[in-house]
Amino acid sequence: MEIKNVTVIGAGTMGNGIAQVFAMHAFNVTLCDISNEALERALKTIRTNLDRMVNKGLVSQENAEQTVGRVSISTDTSRAVASADLVVEAATENFELKKKIFSQIDKATHPNCILATNTSSISITSLAAATSDPSRVIGMHFMNPVPVMKLVEIIRGYSTSDHACKVVMDLSKSMGKEPVEVNDYPGFVANRILMPMINEAVYTLYEGVAGVREIDTVMKLGMAHPMGPLALADFIGLDVCVSILNIMQAGLGNQKYAPCPLLVNMVNAGKLGKKSGEGFYVYQEGSKEADVSPRLR
Ligand code: NAD
Repeated sequence: MEIKNVTVIGAGTMGNGIAQVFAMHAFNVTLCDISNEALERALKTIRTNLDRMVNKGLVSQENAEQTVGRVSISTDTSRAVASADLVVEAATENFELKKKIFSQIDKATHPNCILATNTSSISITSLAAATSDPSRVIGMHFMNPVPVMKLVEIIRGYSTSDHACKVVMDLSKSMGKEPVEVNDYPGFVANRILMPMINEAVYTLYEGVAGVREIDTVMKLGMAHPMGPLALADFIGLDVCVSILNIMQAGLGNQKYAPCPLLVNMVNAGKLGKKSGEGFYVYQEGSKEADVSPRLR
């Protein structure tokens, strides 16, 4: 089965990166969101990323322009998926919201179209149950930032077909990614291991064991992590971290996954990390160095 047209639903942190990577590999991409502002921001981010690559000599100016030219935007989901061969859903991490999207795209796509989700933790099997053909539903979990990170966690739902799995494995490889197949349990592999570490780092701060910079420095220099866990949480989005932890706590029935009260408080205060300008650190546009949030010093 040849994939030519890809629709990405959700133009936030992940959606714009996913759209960029598909467009760079000559797929026609429709990027779809309920927010016009998010779509405009996503196009701007894609252009900025490509300009940076041109300046570094990684792609030609012509190539960058062709890539941008392959991305169209839409706020009409049913229309945006009508001619798609593959849909990658990357909307907000919320089960009811994603269920609605899957039920809608099930009706609006052609029957051979593969329906993938970039969810970090929501059950692929439950999302597939919202469609008439669960065999075409699969998890395609890209890592942030998508143009840079090689891993794609490919998650097989209970009814996912071998065909759907092979198509997305081959497709990921053709884009220079390293797909890894895993089974459908809360948090899959990546977040099952990463989120407890991030949560424990927040508890370490909450209990006053050490400050933000100290915790991140210990993990960077002591464990050779390229980024400390608190900076990584800001990068992922603190709301996304809380959603994943809640899903793991409910799905695995274990209190140890409950999000730290400080993390929940920060999300309730609208401090979502890099995307909102403040989380554990404060981010200023154009500045590479982030300061620790004054509230946490
Ligand atoms: P985000 O909050 O940055 O963006 C979500 C986007 O979805 C927003 O632009 C929002 O307007 C849009 N949206 C909401 N409802 C919609 C609908 N009905 N139709 C179309 N668009 C809709 O979130 P994100 O960080 O990009 O996360 C998206 C998905 O990717 C989530 O499932 C998340 O778990 C997953 N993910 C996130 C990361 C990360 O590092 N942030 C990494 C891997 C996977």
